Amino acid sequence: MNPFPLEPDRTAMSDMGDLVLRRVIDRTERLPSRPATNPLSAEETADLTASLLAPPPAKGGDLETLLARLDEAADCALESAGPGHLAYIPGSGMFTAALAEFYNRAVNRYGGQSAVAPGFAALEESVIRWIAREVCGLPDGSGGLLTSGGSLAAFSATVAARHDRLGEDLATGTVYTTALTHHSVAKAARLAGIRGAHIRLVPHTRELRMDHDAAAAMIRADRAAGLRPFLLVGSAGTTDTGTIDPLPHLADLARRADLWLHLDAAYGGFFRLTARGRERLAGLEQADSITLDPHKGLFMPFGTGALVVRDPATLRAAHDGTGAYLQDVGPTGSIPDSGQLGAELTHEIRGVRAWLPLHLHGVDAFRDALDEKLDLARHVHAVLSRIPELEVPHRPDLTTVVFRVRPSDGSRAAAERADEASRRLMDRINAHRRIALSSTVIDGRYTLRVCIVSHRTHLDRITEALDIISAETTGVTSDAGGD
Ligand SMILES: *Cc1c(COP(=O)(O)O)cnc(C)c1O
Repeated sequence: MNPFPLEPDRTAMSDMGDLVLRRVIDRTERLPSRPATNPLSAEETADLTASLLAPPPAKGGDLETLLARLDEAADCALESAGPGHLAYIPGSGMFTAALAEFYNRAVNRYGGQSAVAPGFAALEESVIRWIAREVCGLPDGSGGLLTSGGSLAAFSATVAARHDRLGEDLATGTVYTTALTHHSVAKAARLAGIRGAHIRLVPHTRELRMDHDAAAAMIRADRAAGLRPFLLVGSAGTTDTGTIDPLPHLADLARRADLWLHLDAAYGGFFRLTARGRERLAGLEQADSITLDPHKGLFMPFGTGALVVRDPATLRAAHDGTGAYLQDVGPTGSIPDSGQLGAELTHEIRGVRAWLPLHLHGVDAFRDALDEKLDLARHVHAVLSRIPELEVPHRPDLTTVVFRVRPSDGSRAAAERADEASRRLMDRINAHRRIALSSTVIDGRYTLRVCIVSHRTHLDRITEALDIISAETTGVTSDAGGD
């Protein structure tokens, strides 16, 4: 018997590692045949989650039994890692990133101060500089930090903008964005101490892009009324439709009106790796700060976000802080302390899980995968547009295609009947469990989304998805009653 069970010996580590690895490989191999939505009923889900709430025992158990339990828990879920996941943006999670993460967690290097683990800090910094300079086109000297996701990136960007432009007097600080921007932007502003009434929603055009002339007029009026406009937030790919705001116009406006420009590229940012994405996202490089989510466009595991900024000194000025207990671990040359650029101190070195796959597969592999998603979305748009019962109101800038049942006429009542029919249509599509779609509200109408971001989604699954959607749509009219 090992007297120190928390420190397994070599044989035990190897046996346990084999068990885990085999299960993960089995699960990964099974992904194409796994149900795309939670296969358990609401009652079964409630029973399972209730049993999983049990506290840990005093005496330890058996790994195989516990792994079986983990599998049961993992199966009770939307299969966000599988090829049929077309519902929400994030989530495929690459195997090689998981391997990197296992290594990372096992060596457990400290991520708050670069002098504690300069090697891993440099690996992380290489990923950040690549994102800032190669992907986003920010100049030399740009940098940033990896965060848990887009929400915390937006938070730190807002705090940096606020500190840079308002100092300590927040009362009249005013932010400009649209109703189509991700809700994390307004949340970040509120968390950063901006009054709710000073988070202005700029109107958008019929193509769902920010009306930059309206933004300019609002900024002028607010300034004349004694407010202090300081931050303009645009979307480089909205969550609902992947629509890109007119970035060069926003950059121009921010420069003329002297506002900080933050661009939310949590979804769209990595499409800059492709030729089409680079063209559609022109202007991104003019931002002061940019959110990206490697756990979306780089297929990383959840918990991998990024904030890149033109001038890292602005981040440091807003987040700086230290204690006497850290006096032995000052900064390492040109590699910044992430603990002084963001809200967190102790955290894992997130860059490792991106560094290994980027170097192992090469950037072209990611570029090709994203190009494939753009092709698939174009194909989905073309096929759905030919189905007479459907309305496909927006051509995709990125990889989200939205559609809904076409109303029988232009009346409000017909629109409501069509919304009901769209709702039933989504239930019937998802009931096949081969794909998972989600819905949203666009132009006041219930609208379904096909969102293609997983590295595991290829033409075969998209063809199947289109067959299912076509079959379930045939004969649907918004005037039909229930099923
Ligand atoms: C996902 C998303 C966010 C939020 O990012 P999290 O990583 O979920 O915190 C912000 N903006 C856009 C456009 C997104 O798609």
